[in-house]
Amino acid sequence: MATTMKRICAWCGESMGEEDVGAGVSQERVSHGICPMCVRTLDLQLESISDMHQLTHEEYDQLPFGVIEIDGEGVVLNYNDWESRFTGFAKDRVRGLNFFTEVAPCTAVRSFLGEFEGMVAAGRPDRRELDFTFALPSGQREVHIVLTWQPEPGWGFILVREATT
Ligand SMILES: [Zn+2]
Repeated sequence: MATTMKRICAWCGESMGEEDVGAGVSQERVSHGICPMCVRTLDLQLESISDMHQLTHEEYDQLPFGVIEIDGEGVVLNYNDWESRFTGFAKDRVRGLNFFTEVAPCTAVRSFLGEFEGMVAAGRPDRRELDFTFALPSGQREVHIVLTWQPEPGWGFILVREATT
């Protein structure tokens, strides 16, 4: 029996269909990408979006929203240009630190870290949205957050855009 992998747009949550990944994959698999509609809407300079994990550092830096890639412990693997401009934190300084405790301690609360820990503990690919107020050195900023988690390979994304009211 063939196994399929669902593709979900990390940004809007829409399904991007399924891909046959062959036999030998037992668990339900979900991959987070960015759908063609979001590519157009966000005017991304990217040709075809499949998996966010396939993006290069340069492509992350083209995205018009914040991208923080973390492992299951919350250690920052990637921090894109938009997020660096938004927070004023240099990318090199942030990589390797724990996002929740060292980079943005304001997120070490149930409504943010708790949500992420819940996704990791569940062991399934997941995506959640939340509204949050960042306490930045420059002041408080209202943001809309998308959290994603993929147990394989054990990476999550925190996507950030400023809330518009
Ligand atoms: Zn989308």
